[in-house]
Amino acid sequence: MAPVIYPTTNFTATEQLCLDRGEGIYVYDTDGNKYIEGLAGLWCTSLGYSNTEVMDAITEQLHKLPFSHTFGGKTHAPIMQLAQKLKAMVPVEDAYVFFGNSGSDANDTHVKMLRYYFNAIGKPEKRKIITRERGYHGVTVAAGSLTSLPANLAHFDAPLEALHILRSDAPHYYTGRQGNETEAQFTDRIIGNLEQQILAEDPDTIAAMIVEPVTGASGVIVPPEGYYEKLQVLLRKHGILVWADEVITGFGRTGADFGCTAMGIKPDLMTFAKQLSSAYFPISASVIPGWMYEAMINQTNEVGVFGHGYTYSGHPAACAAALKTLEIYERDNLFEHAAEVGAYMQAQLRGIFTDHPLVGEVRGIGLIAALELVSNKTTGASFDKGAAGAAAQKACEANGLIIRAVAGNAVALCPPIIITKDEVDDMLARLKTAIDSAYGDLK
Ligand code: PLP
Repeated sequence: MAPVIYPTTNFTATEQLCLDRGEGIYVYDTDGNKYIEGLAGLWCTSLGYSNTEVMDAITEQLHKLPFSHTFGGKTHAPIMQLAQKLKAMVPVEDAYVFFGNSGSDANDTHVKMLRYYFNAIGKPEKRKIITRERGYHGVTVAAGSLTSLPANLAHFDAPLEALHILRSDAPHYYTGRQGNETEAQFTDRIIGNLEQQILAEDPDTIAAMIVEPVTGASGVIVPPEGYYEKLQVLLRKHGILVWADEVITGFGRTGADFGCTAMGIKPDLMTFAKQLSSAYFPISASVIPGWMYEAMINQTNEVGVFGHGYTYSGHPAACAAALKTLEIYERDNLFEHAAEVGAYMQAQLRGIFTDHPLVGEVRGIGLIAALELVSNKTTGASFDKGAAGAAAQKACEANGLIIRAVAGNAVALCPPIIITKDEVDDMLARLKTAIDSAYGDLK
């Protein structure tokens, strides 16, 4: 093993796959084996692996001005252009944008901005944040506390108590329903639970609720119809801000511009990363409404500065990558393409896998989906220790397909959004062979 502390990896594992190069939706390992990248890297390489326009935009910027910070009034054209572009795109009122380097740090920035804002308006007690079971929001100290996946909390003494994180139910009907509950009854029950929790905590102490419009790392949960409508009525009633973590769902993934559009969410705050630059250069964005920004002005004046910022906030090459990526999305109608090919992928997935004996649920929207692998299709019983997920992931790789086993026994699909219908057919054929073979091994 190289002396690398590999992220999200078992230290007793050995290196499994060494990638060498990529082209379109494909990647090649150092032995020359070719794979379809069925998870777009980590839900991020929307434009695939050989977009020379984005590469050229980055290198041109590097040759022109490879670095410039943006502290204390210093700026450069790409950061201003990118903020203007995002402001015009996002469903946030009079948006202002803070740039960072990762989804995690962007969520930490929001935690800090929420405190800064509520202190500014004289409500310092409004600081608790609601997250959901099975939510994934990153791994830095604050974002890691908002994340609910056991591996991200265990042994890190997380969540950090000082953050006052509240956890509410995951909106997953398939695994969360009780008895013969209908989807509507399930939704009413979990919204009711949340209301009880809000009242017990005192709404005046709660700043915001963070949601992934459709989850990723927890197994691609698409909440039931009507869930977000009821959730927003409840949060608005209690003066709790709606914070959409669009790190995966932003920019076409769900077949709409944003997950918020697809799911009917009107967010106050938004977080972006990944597809913002097709992952060709690290960049993230924390978006807040103008009224929040305005309220913070006096405080920055009193202290002298808004005392938050990274060396690489708005790195010129990262902004150039994002600007070019957004230009390509628009020019090539890639959100519409994702809607069309995504609807096709969802229909094919359901057609192929709904009756498969290893598959309990097929779920997803647009170009993001998951298969829930179960040991008993009638009861929905799962396999121990993610055995089916691991078997499926291995079988996929043996068949030239990279996917990701998440949340134990769910198999996630999230291909680059440039994927064509023919490539979807090829991807699903490989997936079918792999799932059949995993089923044979697990029986
Ligand atoms: N939020 C969501 C919804 C994510 O899926 C992720 C990463 O997968 C993050 C935040 C954290 O992003 P990063 O890994 O860039 O820190």
